[in-house]
Amino acid sequence: MSMIYLSLFLLLLALLLFWQSGRKRRQTGLPGGRVIYTDTKSWGKVEKPLYDSSMRLTGKPDYLVERGGKIIPVEVKSGRAPDAPYDSHIYQLASYCLLVHKTMGKRPPYGIIHYRNRDFAVDYTTALEVALLDILAEMRRDENRSSVDCSHNSASRCRGCGYRKICDQRLA
Ligand code: SF4
Repeated sequence: MSMIYLSLFLLLLALLLFWQSGRKRRQTGLPGGRVIYTDTKSWGKVEKPLYDSSMRLTGKPDYLVERGGKIIPVEVKSGRAPDAPYDSHIYQLASYCLLVHKTMGKRPPYGIIHYRNRDFAVDYTTALEVALLDILAEMRRDENRSSVDCSHNSASRCRGCGYRKICDQRLA
């Protein structure tokens, strides 16, 4: 039962991050990330998800890299890099920064989003952390609701959505 609960939680988290990240980003004026060069040889694969019971949050960054005593999470995306990282990718990375901080006791100063052709460093600022915590709190409120309204008007987003077949609010 707890695994089902956890899976539902993660599903809801992914959806909410996707739907709400644009709105939060606009409200907080978060940094969009800076292009960096990274040496992938130093990246260590993460075998098990990180889990923090106090936040009821779990997630598995693709890699962790140690630099100067700091632990930096890395999220790998298979597509080509946009001009700036997508908001949903920034919040996913921020949740890994939060999990690293909670489970390892070291706050990452930034995380890395690795696209096929470019890497971005995204600073894990207090503003980003607060925005993430707001989203998580909102998500918990929505956990107790029987349905959550769709917050976009993009048919193309629905066409690419994995929940299209079971979603009664799909636009396409
Ligand atoms: S099908 Fe569309 S409305 Fe439904 S969850 Fe997916 S993106 Fe949202």
